Amino acid sequence: MIAQVALPIPINKLFDYSIPQSLTDQILKGMRVKVPFRNLSLVGYVVEISPTSNIKELKFITSVLDKTPVLSVPFFKLAEEISANYFCSLGEAIDKMMPSLLKKGRRLEQPLEPPRKEVLPKVKEQVVLFHDISGKKWQFFKEKMAKTLSENKGVIFLAPQIDLCLVAKDLIEREFGVSVTLLHSRNKDSDELANWLKVKSGKIRVVVGTSFAVFAPLVNLGLIIIDDEDNIVYKQEQSPFFHCRDIALLRIKREKADMVLSSPAPSLESYYQAKKKKYKLAGISGDFRPSFNLQIVDTSDEYRKQKKKNIILSRAMEDNIRSSLSGGGQVMLFLNRVGFATYAACKSCGFVMKCTRCSKSLIFFYEKKEMFCGSCNFKAGLPELCPACGLDYIRYSGLGTEKLESEIYRLFPQKIILRYDRLSAKYAKSRQQDIGLKNKKFDILITTQVIINELHNLKDVALVGILSLDALLNRIDFRAAEKTYQLLLRLVSCARQKVVIQTNFPEHYMIRPLSANDYGAFYKKELKYRKELLFPPLAHLASINLRGRHEEKVRLAADELLGYLKREISSIENNEKDKHIELSGPAAAMPLKLRGNFRYNILVKSKSRTRMARFLNNKLRNFKKSGIIITVDIDPL
Ligand SMILES: [Zn+2]
Ligand SMILES: [Zn+2]
Repeated sequence: MIAQVALPIPINKLFDYSIPQSLTDQILKGMRVKVPFRNLSLVGYVVEISPTSNIKELKFITSVLDKTPVLSVPFFKLAEEISANYFCSLGEAIDKMMPSLLKKGRRLEQPLEPPRKEVLPKVKEQVVLFHDISGKKWQFFKEKMAKTLSENKGVIFLAPQIDLCLVAKDLIEREFGVSVTLLHSRNKDSDELANWLKVKSGKIRVVVGTSFAVFAPLVNLGLIIIDDEDNIVYKQEQSPFFHCRDIALLRIKREKADMVLSSPAPSLESYYQAKKKKYKLAGISGDFRPSFNLQIVDTSDEYRKQKKKNIILSRAMEDNIRSSLSGGGQVMLFLNRVGFATYAACKSCGFVMKCTRCSKSLIFFYEKKEMFCGSCNFKAGLPELCPACGLDYIRYSGLGTEKLESEIYRLFPQKIILRYDRLSAKYAKSRQQDIGLKNKKFDILITTQVIINELHNLKDVALVGILSLDALLNRIDFRAAEKTYQLLLRLVSCARQKVVIQTNFPEHYMIRPLSANDYGAFYKKELKYRKELLFPPLAHLASINLRGRHEEKVRLAADELLGYLKREISSIENNEKDKHIELSGPAAAMPLKLRGNFRYNILVKSKSRTRMARFLNNKLRNFKKSGIIITVDIDPL
């Protein structure tokens, strides 16, 4: 007999292996097997068993790792859909669903208990977008969960971060008196496997976790809740680049379950579906006026007044900090750049200190006296003289959190000042200190984007000061305004009294909706731009990323690939189905060079994700270039 095996490698086909006589009655579809592949021994998944194969001289399966199948039929189907939509092999898709130890080939000596009998499926799935402007999401979650549990079905609750998972677990256990199983990235491998097996056995009805929990093998799935659905952690950073929201959608359609998405500032994608009545919109009633005053400071105005080219704090910001502190309140200052200076250059010859592996300027750290690359963690000592011209003209510029910290020390020497950014967190971790903000004392907190996962630990912030709105809005990213709105709304919502924003763009269209917590108004403006450009949520995008060690080779390969895809599209132009795929590029990625690789992208646009994915799956398979790695990010964020 022959087993067709899916392997977790980026080759999108099944591999035939002979089943040794001794194993014939032990191997079933959905089991894991060990197989030889080139010089490796890999864990694969048996997809089909057939009497014959077209291939001669097959290798034998080495061993079988399961007593009963670990993969059920619905999960096979889900993996097939992921493979078809996200440009990965079936084996890679299945691998995403498996606990680490099963991927690594841990044997399961006990047969898995057969799950309890299936509850009759519902007629149609329903998605509710809970636009949480009133802070009443938990009330809504509880109602939904109560209904699901009363129907004897299971719930998956996804949170963006582990602390929030623990909070949710606690709330659910107290409310319903059920035991909740955690599936998250900080589980030890052995705990992860034990929890996964518990869920699969059907003994557990509520699973709480981070992204991986979307694959929780619940037996009778009734409801998936995704809290903070716009959080970027739900999007995978490696192939397959899926978004958990989309996986959840595939699951609820197949398993006839409901889904609740929640956010104070939903993704444009979800809000668009709600506006089109594909999702039900909830949570928008009641009073949602913000509790703070918002003041916009036009920095260009301020430069003129203070007769400086650069200011760190505007007068208004400084005055507000003073008055908040004297009132006994805490202050949070947001600046999304780490380091003392973000840029070091020679005044004489113009030489810029750059990372040797990335095309990025190095960040200067005063405290550690070193230069650092924010992309790849490359470190270098401080140059005494310019490496290019040998003169002593190196100057540092660009404001980072470390510089801001020193300025704040100068202005408020008596206060407790806490800097919390990616690097301070890393430093704390290396010294085995608590990395979070829980129980940390401060009068003034200086922080970056990493604060987003710690906001629940801030209780008494009177003033929120935003110092780097412009850098957020200036990113080369069509989602820049949306992401900025989502981030800032959460930050300003922490302010009990006052928000001050320093910006060069006081008239930007996101500011007024932000100050009134009127997401609908922002959405309208933003959607107009997206419509003009035919960008998501009106179309799907795919980014074909090419990378390699030699820039010229990568660029040429990208040109060649673009030409090839364009020819392929025009040759099928008469076929309506593939007609509406648009290609553009190739463009240099930002940054062009990252960790020693040069990178170019081709952008693909289509109204249908499935059609686009199918086209790319078919065509890219035939395109190979030595020394060039090609990945495809579907719906890039
Ligand atoms: Zn120089
Ligand atoms: Zn670097």
